[in-house]
Amino acid sequence: MANYELLKDIEKYGRDNKIPILLDDTLEYILNILKQIKPKRILEIGTAIGFSALCFSKYLSDDGRIDTIEIESLRVEQALENIKKVGVEDKIRVLEGDALEILPYLHEEYDFVFIDASKGKYNEFFAHATRLCKKGGYIIADNVLYKGMVMSDYNKHKQRTAVNKLREFIDMVLKNENLKSELLDIGDGIIVSIMINK
Ligand code: SAH
Ligand code: MG
Repeated sequence: MANYELLKDIEKYGRDNKIPILLDDTLEYILNILKQIKPKRILEIGTAIGFSALCFSKYLSDDGRIDTIEIESLRVEQALENIKKVGVEDKIRVLEGDALEILPYLHEEYDFVFIDASKGKYNEFFAHATRLCKKGGYIIADNVLYKGMVMSDYNKHKQRTAVNKLREFIDMVLKNENLKSELLDIGDGIIVSIMINK
C-alpha cells in the first residue's frame, strides 16, 4: 500500500529548501483534471524531488505509469528515495539527464504531459510534448507568467531573455490550431492545452 501521508513531509522539505515544487492552487487545478481523465500514461519534464509526480501517481488508472525527467543527479537521488518511501516504485520511472537529450528516445503516447523545467527551453520541450501527447490528451506548462514578469512592461535586464522567450512560447501555443489552449493566472501561470487534432 502506498503511503501518501508522507507527501506532507516531502512538500515541507521542498518549500523549506526553496525547491520550486508545485504551488497549492496549481496542484489543485491539475489534480482535478487528472481525477477526470484517469490517465494511463503521464510524462513530466522536471522531476525535482518527485513531489508533483508523487501527487499525480495517486490519480493514475490501475495499470498507469509516469515517466519523469530530471537533469540534476542529486535531485534524481532524492526523488528515487521519496518514491521508494511512498512505495510507488512500480508507477514512477525517473529518467536522468537533459530532457532535450532524452525526449527524442521516447515514442509512447501519453495522456498528460507536464512541462516544469528550464523556461528557456519550453519551445523545444513543447515540440516533443505535441509529438508524444495523444489525441484528446492534455499538455500543461507551468511558470509561464514568471512571477508576473511576462505580463509586465518593465523587466530587469537579467530576466529579459527568459521573459521574451516565454512570451514567444505563449504566442506559439495559443496559435497552434491542433490544440485548444488557455492561459491561466493560477499559481505562477500555466498554459493548458488539449490536443484536439492529431
Ligand atoms: N515538477 C516538480 C518541480 C520541478 S522544478 C514539482 O512540482 O515537484 C524544475 C526541475 O527541472 C529542477 O529540478 C531542474 O533541475 C529540472 N530541469 C531543468 N532543466 C532541465 C532539463 N533540461 N532537463 C531535465 N530537467 C531539467
Ligand atoms: Mg513549476
